Amino acid sequence: MSVVGFARRKAAGALRRIRERPPKPLVLRPFKPQSPAGRGVRCVVCQWKGAAFEGILHCERAICPRCGAIGRDRWLFHCLVSRVRVTSSTTLLETSPRLGDEYRQAMKRRLDYTCSDYDLRAHRADIALDLQDMDLADASLDVIMTSHVLEHVPDTDAALAEMYRVLRPGGSVILLVPVPQGVTAPPAEPEFHDDMTPVFWRFGLDLTDRLREHGFDTRLLCTADFQRHAEARDAGWPDVYPEWDVASIVEAAKPDDLTVVMDDALARTTGLTPGYMYLAWHGLKPG
Ligand SMILES: [Zn+2]
Repeated sequence: MSVVGFARRKAAGALRRIRERPPKPLVLRPFKPQSPAGRGVRCVVCQWKGAAFEGILHCERAICPRCGAIGRDRWLFHCLVSRVRVTSSTTLLETSPRLGDEYRQAMKRRLDYTCSDYDLRAHRADIALDLQDMDLADASLDVIMTSHVLEHVPDTDAALAEMYRVLRPGGSVILLVPVPQGVTAPPAEPEFHDDMTPVFWRFGLDLTDRLREHGFDTRLLCTADFQRHAEARDAGWPDVYPEWDVASIVEAAKPDDLTVVMDDALARTTGLTPGYMYLAWHGLKPG
């Protein structure tokens, strides 16, 4: 065989091996570190490192000075990457993401990412989408990330049924909502969030069963801090904000439903304490 023929065969073999290789799981790093590594804390979204986050330790604060992620943004992102194998071919829908253009573009560079909003008024997005009646084909998505949206949707069951429908078998929903109390109830008084969106539901831990009723294999993701308190039935965090009824949350927590995705060391370096503020549901559509 000629040298050229040999080289061609080698190249074809290498190409075939590359094509047959399963895609590598992606470590999602939307932004490259631009500042020198510091000590203390680290943002899991943009990899910023520094002495401390800005503001107090609270899920709506503890702001990353580089990407603007607040506590619950980092928790959402961590729950995604610790529970779902994301590759460049993963189709992911994020509903009303709080983080802006830089984050969205970075996500789009790394996976098949679409963001939606109910009416494109409160948030800019790629598509308008009503979670109760999604204009998406059956089994068309691998992942849905939805943070602090479901409480603004009147019909929870319709939204959960739609999420189940549009996910592929083996697909996941990573669901965050405010959890101010142990058991779901409508607000006693009319309640609105920052952008004047009405709140229809104040969710509790019974949302686990709601997801299961719709067919999802469901785990309630939490930090080690929350699991310890739940197992000990101990609502005695040193810093309890009045918006949270932590006694009823701890009371409603079923230890068998909990999956710890963050130990104490990581919760400290990512600024995700106290534990009662960081809960998320992972619903897996059996496949
Ligand atoms: Zn950041």
